[in-house]
Amino acid sequence: MGYSDGDEEEAADKGKSAGQMLADKLFSSRKNGWENAGAEAEEKIDAFAEEYKQFLDRGKTERECIAAGRELLDRAGFRGAGSPSAAMGGDGRRLAAGDKLYFINREKSLIAVIIGKTPPVAGLNLVGAHVDSPRIDLKAAPLYEDAGFALLDTQYYGGIKNYQWTAIPLALHGVIIRADGARVEVRVGEDTGDPVFTITDLLPHLAREQMQKKANELVPGEDLNILAGSKPYRDGKAKDRVKLNLLSILNEKYGMVEDDFYGAELELVPAFRARDLGFDRSMIGGYGHDDRSCAFAALSALLEIAAGETPEKTAVCIFTDKEEIGSAGNTGAQSRFFENCAAHLIALSEKNYSDLLLRAALEKSSMLSCDVNGALDPTWESVQDRKNTAWLGRGIALSKFTGGNGKSGGSDANAEFCGRVQRILTARNIPWQYGDLGKVDKGGGGTIAKYVANLGVEVLDCGIPVLSMHSPFEVLSKIDLYATREAYAAFLRDA
Ligand code: MN
Ligand code: MN
Repeated sequence: MGYSDGDEEEAADKGKSAGQMLADKLFSSRKNGWENAGAEAEEKIDAFAEEYKQFLDRGKTERECIAAGRELLDRAGFRGAGSPSAAMGGDGRRLAAGDKLYFINREKSLIAVIIGKTPPVAGLNLVGAHVDSPRIDLKAAPLYEDAGFALLDTQYYGGIKNYQWTAIPLALHGVIIRADGARVEVRVGEDTGDPVFTITDLLPHLAREQMQKKANELVPGEDLNILAGSKPYRDGKAKDRVKLNLLSILNEKYGMVEDDFYGAELELVPAFRARDLGFDRSMIGGYGHDDRSCAFAALSALLEIAAGETPEKTAVCIFTDKEEIGSAGNTGAQSRFFENCAAHLIALSEKNYSDLLLRAALEKSSMLSCDVNGALDPTWESVQDRKNTAWLGRGIALSKFTGGNGKSGGSDANAEFCGRVQRILTARNIPWQYGDLGKVDKGGGGTIAKYVANLGVEVLDCGIPVLSMHSPFEVLSKIDLYATREAYAAFLRDA
């Protein structure tokens, strides 16, 4: 990153007492990364932040992030192997060192691979992040008319504070599979000139009762109703004419009828773009830092390696789905997708595939579980622990354990693996820090780490500290974003 060398520090040591020198040697000292970043480093940090903002605006749903990732991989010369099973039916080619390929699972998860100098059976170096983010999904039968409005019923996705999602502009993204089988993509509210949507809130003048409620009852989930229209269809005899008018517009635009809502995946996300934050532009505010910031850092790290070298071990980047609702389903980290891809890598690189070879490869593999972490917030510090919570600007945050109520429900990395990762980062002068979520028994959270650890893989959680996590407008530091990409790249290069 171009940090300053030790000369200045040596000069500063002159005149220090023996006690001060000993303290310097023994005490942990985590510095603000900007202190040591020279002008050259700042240029790289800013350039990477610009790339990231574009990625964030391009991918506001898991499907869009996978599509964005695929574009970058295609441009970098990765071979799209389709699904893992399609890879087997390919041209019969065997995998060799330096080969670059990717697998995509139902447009919602992705695994990109550079075959290392040692074959996959010798173990993989993995960086894995999730590309789903908290949002508001439409119900199966969402559209109704009430008091002259067309409204859409919703079910929220992931852990949100409902009240944060009212009175802001929302965009509608997703796919509809019509009765004739046609697949229609929806993306409304992103382009200048597009209409947007919103969830209304009560005016303060009449909110005396509402304001007495507990925050989780302020806006009940059932009341997260999307305002979608107010103009009646011009035919005095028809009923529900505002709803009819809206369906008529949707029919014209997408060829859909009301029944097509049922299986559709329509998601409401904040309509605003990622922006530089603060007079000094040191931060980025935007929707979906959790976990697209780590996802982009992980993919960029893999692409950086792909551009100029063959890593010692096979390097793998995973984008997974459904983390925010427990990594469930056939596109989440609990699915067999990763295992299936690993099996195919072995089948395509060894003479004879056997299940034992796969198990051996998994046991020799290690992964950075790339996920954001709650950053220290002076306004909300009462539930955080200054010594153990990640600070914005101090680099990638390493979380040995996650979970809550006595580490339950999370993952706890092995000391040996933590040591290995710390050595990799320290050797390259990459700023890193510890990052536990908060004070004991104040809450907790999990990541994809435990599901991959179940396969025998060594796993450590580490990622970017974020403020206002799970809100429509999360905040991160540009230097942490950059340091995290460097950390992932260093790990993927490790032998
Ligand atoms: Mn996350
Ligand atoms: Mn999350």
